[in-house]
Amino acid sequence: MAKSFLIDTSRCTACRGCQIACKEWFELPANKTKQTGSHQNPPDLNPNNYKIVRFSEHLEGNTIRWYFFPDQCRHCIDPPCVAVGGDIVEGAIIHDKKTGAVVYTDKTRQLSEETFEEMRESCPYNIPRRDPTTGRISKCTMCNDRVVRGLLPVCVQVCPTGAMNFGEREEMLTLAQKRLARVKKEHPKAMLADPDDVNVIYLLVDDPTKYYEFSVAQFIPGLDRKAFLAKLGSPLR
Ligand code: SF4
Ligand code: SF4
Repeated sequence: MAKSFLIDTSRCTACRGCQIACKEWFELPANKTKQTGSHQNPPDLNPNNYKIVRFSEHLEGNTIRWYFFPDQCRHCIDPPCVAVGGDIVEGAIIHDKKTGAVVYTDKTRQLSEETFEEMRESCPYNIPRRDPTTGRISKCTMCNDRVVRGLLPVCVQVCPTGAMNFGEREEMLTLAQKRLARVKKEHPKAMLADPDDVNVIYLLVDDPTKYYEFSVAQFIPGLDRKAFLAKLGSPLR
C-alpha cells in the first residue's frame, strides 16, 4: 500500500517551516524576489521551490480571513504527467509503486519543451516547473530518498502544528475522516480534496476556490488534457 500525506489546513499557521525545510533538504538556491503586497513569497512554485505556502485573503463581513495552502505535487495515484512523459526517456520519470512517489530525475533535461508543456498541461494541479537554464523539470519528490529509509518527508518532520501528516495510505485516510468530522462541527463546508485520486490529501475548511484555483483537480487525474476534453465532449459522459 502506498504512502500518503494528510495536509490539514485547519492547523496551518503559514509559518513556512515546510517550505524552507524543503529548500534546505534539496539545497535549492534562494530566489530573487520583490515585495508584491502579499505574504506569499515567492509568488509561485518554481524550479527552486518544490513547495510554497499560498496565502489568500478574504473579507467576510467585517472580518478578514486568511486561507493558507501549503502547495506541492499530489503524487496522483494514476498520474497524468507520467502518462504523458513517462515512456519517452527511460529513467526520466519514476513512479515508485511501493511508496506512490512520482519522482522526476536529472534525465528530464532530455525531454523536449513540447513534452514539458504537455506534462504541465496534463497536471490537474499545475505543478511541474522547468529550469530554463538546465532544462531539468522538477517538483516535490515525496522525499522518496528519506521515505525508503523509514524517515518522514522533511516538510512533515518540521511542521510544528500537526498540519503535515504522513504514513500508510489507509492510516492517513482514517485520520483524514476523523479530523474532517471534528472540523465540520465548526466549519460545515469542510471537505477533503480529491482523496480517491491522490496521495496528498488536503483537508479544506471552506470552499476550495477560496484557497487557490488548483486546490482541487481542474480535471480528472488519470486522463491527459486531450482525453479529458474528449470525455467532456462525449455523449456517454
Ligand atoms: Fe503550515 Fe506546517 Fe507548513 Fe508551517 S510547517 S506552513 S504550519 S504546513
Ligand atoms: Fe504529476 Fe501533477 Fe499528479 Fe504531481 S500532481 S503526480 S506533477 S500530475
